[in-house]
Amino acid sequence: MSEAGNENLGTPSNPLRVAVIGSGPAGFYIVSNFMKYPDLTVEIDMFDRLPTPFGLVRGGVAPDHQKDKSVTRAYDKSAKQPNYRFFGNVEFGKHVTLDDLKHYYHQIVFSTGAQVDRTLGVRGEEFTGSHSATDFVAWYNGHPDFAHLKFELSSESVAIVGIGNVAVDVARMLCRTHDELRQTDMADYAIEALRDSNVKNIYMLGRRGPAQAAFTPPEIKELAELVGADVVIAQEEARLDAESRRDIEAGADKNVLKNVEIIEEISGRGQCSKDKRLTIRFLVSPTEILGDENGNVTGIRIVKNELVRKDDGTLSARSTGEEETIPVGMVFRSVGYRGVALPGIPFNERWGNIFNDKGRVTTEEGDPVRGLYCAGWIKRGPSGVIGTNKTDAQETVACMVEDLKAGRYLHAAHTRPDEAMAFVASRQPAAVSYDDWTAIDAEELRMGTEDNRPRVKFTRVEDMLDVLDR
Ligand code: NAP
Repeated sequence: MSEAGNENLGTPSNPLRVAVIGSGPAGFYIVSNFMKYPDLTVEIDMFDRLPTPFGLVRGGVAPDHQKDKSVTRAYDKSAKQPNYRFFGNVEFGKHVTLDDLKHYYHQIVFSTGAQVDRTLGVRGEEFTGSHSATDFVAWYNGHPDFAHLKFELSSESVAIVGIGNVAVDVARMLCRTHDELRQTDMADYAIEALRDSNVKNIYMLGRRGPAQAAFTPPEIKELAELVGADVVIAQEEARLDAESRRDIEAGADKNVLKNVEIIEEISGRGQCSKDKRLTIRFLVSPTEILGDENGNVTGIRIVKNELVRKDDGTLSARSTGEEETIPVGMVFRSVGYRGVALPGIPFNERWGNIFNDKGRVTTEEGDPVRGLYCAGWIKRGPSGVIGTNKTDAQETVACMVEDLKAGRYLHAAHTRPDEAMAFVASRQPAAVSYDDWTAIDAEELRMGTEDNRPRVKFTRVEDMLDVLDR
């Protein structure tokens, strides 16, 4: 096939056929960004291994942040376009492979997110009671792959390593009262487990100082206003070191200034009176998770840090050697997510993302791989908020359109939509369409209305398929 390929590709008589793998925000912003090219006729089939779309909006965004989930209204709008189809309950690598998809699509986009957590690399991480925040988040959000997990919430003290927004979400879920959680769409089993929990002391451990905290001002402000928990920050840890002060005087980001201001205010608070206590520590790093002879977590050893200027101008944590032990029965590591390699797609193991250039998948050496693209966390790593994926997808789509015009795409042989449909059905008879998802959604919302909650989630794929009489 010549480089120019199929001359009228992207026209009504010969639509560009695109497969999107992963139905989180990044995947949906691929769809909406294509709408910005009205002269281009494109048909998009979106695949997800779950019967439910929306990725981390459903399985990651905290249950008490329902407003953040309203972005799905825009995704619904994209899904209503006649050129869009959803194939839920279809897993890439299991039901369909890269070689399969190349027969049906001219371009394939991977927007599979970052599904696992980064580890700490300290001794004792494998002890019972040491968990990744990503597992806990997926569990309380009712993700079917995590619903079977058990979190032993019998100990009074818990440590969360990291002070990013995920750590804040986890801390908030541990601090919320039962009445508050009962008003959310948290999985029923998690609401019950948290009601019966003995957790009273929660420690959030930041390795750098208040001016480098990864949480955003609204997140720390929300912690400071919790009904059921006092937030405690020691004044000596809230105080800025000379280097951080210098950075701030040189003109800091307004979020940094706001964080520092809120942290200072919290550190000046008086006596605690609420049932739970959330202690935020700065300038400490875990050096070991301690356990008993049965391998159960009994504590976390931390070392105090100081900040040092790196060659690139940023401040990093350096151990002072001064150690301390905090007795806890559970540790959550919340130090960032990592992507998972997809079969046949060049993957940067070091960074946990797909090798790419502006969203064009490349080999390790940087050569573009024809017809393959990526978007979202699997492209750039786990950073930013939901909206960040909009501009990220815009960049990917621009590359896709540019490549189409230059004749760089896959020369698919079976480009009638019904051919792809029949192929998927042959591999996964229980594939779920967007209409099917709408029926599952309606049932969850109905159960929610009965229970005075935003929704009651199905946490087992079988139960979702039962709604569809499958
Ligand atoms: P994150 O924002 O990257 O925060 C990771 C935290 O872990 C930082 O405090 C980091 O400290 C710390 N850390 C990293 N390695 C460590 C180590 N070895 N020892 C101790 N601490 C370590 O990641 P995240 O919280 O998982 O969030 C992921 C993304 O989702 C972020 O972009 C976040 O904003 C977003 N998100 C947003 C919301 C929201 O908008 N409400 C909610 C949840 C998540 P350093 O700063 O020193 O590296």
